[in-house]
Amino acid sequence: MSLRINAIKELTSDKNKMNISASPKTSTIFGENVFTLKTARQFLSDEAYKSLAASIKGAKKIDRTLANHIANGIRAWAETKGVTHFTHWFQPLSGSTAEKHDSFFTIKNDGTSIEEFDGAALIQQEPDASSFPSGGLRATFEARGYTAWDPSSPAFIIEIGNGKTLCIPTIFVSYTGESLDYKAPLLKASEALNKAAVDVCNFFDKNVTKVVATLGWEQEYFVIDEGLSNARPDLIQCGRTLFGASPAKGQQLEDNYFGSIPERVYAFMRDFEAECYKLGIPLRTRHNEVAPAQFEAAPIFEEVGIAVDHNCLMMDVMDRVARRHNLKVLLHEKPFAGINGSGKHNNWSMATDTGVNLLSPGKTPKTNLMFLTFFVNTIKAVHDYSDLLRASIASAGNDHRLGANEAPPAIISVFIGQYLSNVLHEIETRVNAKFDEQDEAILKLDIHRSIPELLLDNTDRNRTSPFAFTGNKFEFRAVGSSANCANAMTVLNTIIAETLKTFKTEVDELIEKGEKKEIAIMHIIQKYIVESKPVLFDGDGYSQEWHKEAEKRNLPNVRTTPLALDAMISLKAKKLFEANNVYSNLELEARHEIELEKYIKKVQIEARIMGDLALNHILPAAIKYQNELLQNINGLKSAGLKETAYKSQLTILSKLNDHIQIIYEKVNALVEARKVANVIDDTRKKAIAYNTEVKDAFFNDIRYHVDKLEHLIDDEYWTLPKYREMLFLR
Ligand code: ADP
Ligand code: MG
Repeated sequence: MSLRINAIKELTSDKNKMNISASPKTSTIFGENVFTLKTARQFLSDEAYKSLAASIKGAKKIDRTLANHIANGIRAWAETKGVTHFTHWFQPLSGSTAEKHDSFFTIKNDGTSIEEFDGAALIQQEPDASSFPSGGLRATFEARGYTAWDPSSPAFIIEIGNGKTLCIPTIFVSYTGESLDYKAPLLKASEALNKAAVDVCNFFDKNVTKVVATLGWEQEYFVIDEGLSNARPDLIQCGRTLFGASPAKGQQLEDNYFGSIPERVYAFMRDFEAECYKLGIPLRTRHNEVAPAQFEAAPIFEEVGIAVDHNCLMMDVMDRVARRHNLKVLLHEKPFAGINGSGKHNNWSMATDTGVNLLSPGKTPKTNLMFLTFFVNTIKAVHDYSDLLRASIASAGNDHRLGANEAPPAIISVFIGQYLSNVLHEIETRVNAKFDEQDEAILKLDIHRSIPELLLDNTDRNRTSPFAFTGNKFEFRAVGSSANCANAMTVLNTIIAETLKTFKTEVDELIEKGEKKEIAIMHIIQKYIVESKPVLFDGDGYSQEWHKEAEKRNLPNVRTTPLALDAMISLKAKKLFEANNVYSNLELEARHEIELEKYIKKVQIEARIMGDLALNHILPAAIKYQNELLQNINGLKSAGLKETAYKSQLTILSKLNDHIQIIYEKVNALVEARKVANVIDDTRKKAIAYNTEVKDAFFNDIRYHVDKLEHLIDDEYWTLPKYREMLFLR
């Protein structure tokens, strides 16, 4: 019996019938596995507590003695929870999270054995870094990398069954100081944004001393039966199906969206949500998505660094908990052809330490002007650096969404809705008119009056815009479901920081020339509206007209990763990241190289699995069935029947044969194309070759013939679980 048939049989077995127990009230378990400041208060001395609290605010470094105190306090807390091991937890560029476990247990010089966790172990560790991607950085400089404690993100405990591990969030850097992870640059970009945004805020409010970026991600994912997933080598190794004919019923009825959640998935969700709550991840929403077997989870937004950690943690937790339910979570951007892929909308805004959301339209003329300032600066930043935003979300997986016929398109544009378009237009039309005292009316733009309608109108219902204003935040929708949001957020925060810095300089220049502050601000806003107008688009992002129009407007439309990544190492990018102390040129070059290599490996693995599946699964099934047909035909023939009696069998036989020949030939040619690509030295050229000469030249073509065979062959012989089974059976 094939794994496929077995998995289908197993589906109805009792092991899949989970009890849905009553869950505890969320607030009673929320954050119980996190070393929050409140917990720190109980376990730390006054001095250690103050030092920790100050460093969380980014105010000052923690000295060694206090680090020892803090480490002791964290261990004491962790031990009350039965923790025996600790790990530095970090986000390497390979994409997942990494840990290296060490025991508290140690033996002192005099032979006594004790549990210990000192400041040094808290602050710094040296994982065996040689196997993490570094883009040559470590080779060039220093062979080692180390992880360093990031006090801005609290320590937490991961529970796996009864095993509990204390995790210390860290950044991962080389000994010469280059970042080797996603987190370090994000922290730097947040700092750049903080400085630039505080300066601009101070035009309006001197009390603002800190600005943070806020992020609320919406994570899309698929859940399928684990047994079925295990019978698909492509899912196991690539995270997506390389073959599979469309089922008779796909998502055309759209009856899945907001439908009731299937019970087995519901049991899983409650379980993984409970684990997330203990880890302090403020999940809020769960629902079905458009495609069958597709779902979404979203938390309440948080400061961007914490939100990124929480998203990474949640992806891990989901994967683990799903196994307990004999389910498999698919985070790939496009696990199934023909139905929607998965994204991770990044809802982004900026918040001040005075409690103001800078992208929330104000209630007075003055706060309106502050809103307009940040709103227009964001649009300007996206306009000026759309190529970098595109690069920040480029991956082999995301290429199946962006640039394919799916939302959102690879063209980065901004949706702001009718109302705000009118507001901007009104300001713009005064381009040549000088602002004077009377014109201060414009400052009184009574935006707040329409806010309730505005919020409704502004929700971009067609969801085709990659960057949409949704009432009090922007929503960057082009991020891939499996991505670490840090990459996109680092770029976004940096480009906003840069734009705000320039804005401040330009306003100051006008003020120095004697212009009134508000008028000066209006002038620069007006200028930015004019300059960034081409990036504004409220229509249907899928349409052909938009593609043509975008071309006229000179908006970049780069469909594939190897080319989209070019923007990372342009002169403009290098200047930008260096000026904001986010990446050195060297780090950019290294990252560019790493992303290209990731792309190459992904396509390479897919190409191999494709050959594997074709030769070991597809062709054998086709040939078996062909033999059966032959036997049948020969039997009928020898019984003396005329050819008309087995005409259909002959047709099927010949169709089978055509597909078999083509598949075999193409798979061989694919292997050859890979060999050619493999010897290309230049990483960028190699990635392009993998894209065009390997993927584009063969994948769809081979798939076409395999999917045809799926329709022709006896169902019993087909070893790979079919789409209808993976998507609809649970
Ligand atoms: P939807 O986009 O589905 O209509 P919401 O607008 O309520 O849902 O929120 C989507 C996400 O946006 C949530 O994760 C929410 O926490 C987040 N969000 C709301 N306000 C902000 C903000 N000021 N900054 C960042 N994210 C926010
Ligand atoms: Mg949303």
